[in-house]
Amino acid sequence: MMILSRKYWSNTNHEHDQPAHLQLRDPNIPEIVNLPKYAGPESRYCPARVYEYIADDKGQLKLQINAQNCLHCKACDIKDPKQNIEWTVPEGGGGPGYSIM
Ligand code: SF4
Repeated sequence: MMILSRKYWSNTNHEHDQPAHLQLRDPNIPEIVNLPKYAGPESRYCPARVYEYIADDKGQLKLQINAQNCLHCKACDIKDPKQNIEWTVPEGGGGPGYSIM
């Protein structure tokens, strides 16, 4: 509920057919470094829960990126322990549009 509220308040919209604006430089880092060494910090610092560790059919936790929920705060671009997340500007001028600030 809180996640949906943040998304609503930020008035952030994305075009659904655009390329992902969040990329991993090395797709293996989350499972081989971030999860075992730092307990998957991306699933905690992101205010929109874009990053989720979900078990695959073998029970192995894999990082899922829900880029459509991104609020464009850029925390992940700064806080990833290995600087493995690359945030790029989304197409179409999307982003937060706070009306009460
Ligand atoms: S920029 Fe990164 S930390 Fe911020 S909402 Fe988007 S995915 Fe989450």
